[in-house]
Amino acid sequence: MGGARAAIHVRRGDTVEVTHGKYRGKRGKVLRVLRKEARIIVEGVAVAKRHTKPNEKMPSGGIVPKEMPFPASKAMLVCTRCGRAVRFGRQRMDDGTTVRVCRHCGELIDRA
Ligand SMILES: [Zn+2]
Repeated sequence: MGGARAAIHVRRGDTVEVTHGKYRGKRGKVLRVLRKEARIIVEGVAVAKRHTKPNEKMPSGGIVPKEMPFPASKAMLVCTRCGRAVRFGRQRMDDGTTVRVCRHCGELIDRA
């Protein structure tokens, strides 16, 4: 940890695993990245059930699950190849783009 400006290491669409806290071990796809807050919203993780009053859409009211943001620092990227929550490095490609590489198996996480 360090610095007020926490960099978010994951992107929308990444699959991540929660490594700390209440939701530890859960995996899901990143739905949103809240850069300013250094938080992410992950599909199926930190779901709060919202009770809604009856309305036109749901005449009898209902419970609507809604994912809540949680700190990005509590999640790690899951490598699509080795299937683990991994640290990754960055590698510069010939065309100047930077890709993320799994530190465990060497798989490129971003593909052209
Ligand atoms: Zn890997």
